[in-house]
Amino acid sequence: MTGLDLLAKTGSRGLFIGGQWRESATGARFEVRDPADESVITDVADGDTHDAMAALDAAVTAQAGWADTPPRERGEILRRAFEAIMDQADDFAELISLEMGKTLAEAKGEVGYGAEFFRWFAEEAVRIHGRWMQAPAGGSRLLTIRKPVGPCLFITPWNFPLAMGTRKIGPAVAAGCTMVVKPAELTPLTMLALADVLTEAGLPGGVLNVVTTSDSKSLSATLMADDRLRKVSFTGSTPVGKVLVRQSADELQRVSMELGGNAPFIVFEDADVAAAVDGAMIAKMRNMGEACTAANRFLVHESVAREFADLLAQRMGSLTTGRGQTPGTDVGPLINADAVESVGKLVSDAVQDGAELVTGGEAPEGPGHFYAPTVLLGVSAEARIVNEEIFGPVAPITTFTSDDEAIAMANATEYGLSSYVYTRDLARTVKVAEALQFGMVGVNTGLVSNPAAPFGGVKASGFGREGGFEGIEEYLDTTYVAIPV
Ligand code: NAD
Repeated sequence: MTGLDLLAKTGSRGLFIGGQWRESATGARFEVRDPADESVITDVADGDTHDAMAALDAAVTAQAGWADTPPRERGEILRRAFEAIMDQADDFAELISLEMGKTLAEAKGEVGYGAEFFRWFAEEAVRIHGRWMQAPAGGSRLLTIRKPVGPCLFITPWNFPLAMGTRKIGPAVAAGCTMVVKPAELTPLTMLALADVLTEAGLPGGVLNVVTTSDSKSLSATLMADDRLRKVSFTGSTPVGKVLVRQSADELQRVSMELGGNAPFIVFEDADVAAAVDGAMIAKMRNMGEACTAANRFLVHESVAREFADLLAQRMGSLTTGRGQTPGTDVGPLINADAVESVGKLVSDAVQDGAELVTGGEAPEGPGHFYAPTVLLGVSAEARIVNEEIFGPVAPITTFTSDDEAIAMANATEYGLSSYVYTRDLARTVKVAEALQFGMVGVNTGLVSNPAAPFGGVKASGFGREGGFEGIEEYLDTTYVAIPV
């Protein structure tokens, strides 16, 4: 088996609607390209608004029966799907690597992380419960019932083709919701393979519908204008998230928004600098820097900045850039030519403004969309590179002299997703973690993502949580029943 063999059952990579693979209404298709050399991997059906409506019809038809399916049965389907993904982990990793570019090792990491949402929510499906209490004044009982919110629309980004889907599908399946999933047009293949896995695990037709399209805007606008759609969960950029929140107003759909980030990585003077560099390599280089959680700004106490920069540059400079499936590759290609251009411009602007280029700073010759791992020291807090999402393998370092200055710099962003702190002082850890305006704080670690933890942001990074006990709440409504006695 290879990664592409996972697509053998996907009806020539068609649309998955009501439990059947089919072509799009127009018969149109679009190409999926390998970011390492721009070659065409394959093509998939290009769904239009008629296909989207057919998918919503199927989700609506399946909703009542799915909500009535015993929680244990819903959970066991997820559990079987978890096992099936893990059994085919190498193939899933290859498919992810092929369409997205990340190395096989990183793709394998995503497979484990992504599948784990199914195991976690398989266990949560049987723990949905309301409460029973006496009214404070006596005389009546207050009962709450939890119900699935109803048919959902999921729109996912290209950077984690599996995990960004399972974080939504897992809790929705557990809660008893049906769904239409619209994967990113740059990386639609993994989601098609996942539809097969869930079907084989016993998911009834119509619960999960997948529509690939090159026109996400029309698809979401059409579906969100329909009052049968009750929930939208989006992972992607903040500007698109804002458009979707506005669109949700007409039919008042519930929304979860997992948006962009601008994570600070703070290294205090008492930190274990070598450990901070280890953490920085993960926080910066996971997914070639193309992660919403990626450390975007290194805020380092001036007394350790040079040591940190040199150690980090040594590590970054020794990484091998290449095709994700080639043995020995540490850093794969960026997703497309625009990404390389945008990263290059951020770096050249910073250097022009006086930053020191410690390593990297160039895009190797094509084909493929590569950018060399880069470290910049002495970056001004006003530089564009520390105020915008870089989404590439570049570590800009800015120095500070006091805790208050570090906290103020860290919070001086519209975003509020993840943040990282390196210190050996417990009191400082507590003070800083409380002061940071971010949904997640990693303490002496470069990795915060964990399916058992509530992942999500504040401010322009959105709202709602994925994973943890909170993850299933996004898919449940509460009905309160008053019972006088
Ligand atoms: P994007 O916003 O361009 O696209 C995300 C998805 O939205 C894709 O499926 C795309 O087809 C669709 N889309 C684009 N325009 C649309 C529109 N007008 N209406 C409806 N759908 C539309 O983002 P991207 O480039 O795919 O992903 C990168 C972004 O995602 C970064 O900002 C990153 O930080 C963010 N992200 C956030 C998280 C999180 O959990 N907070 C996780 C991963 C990525």
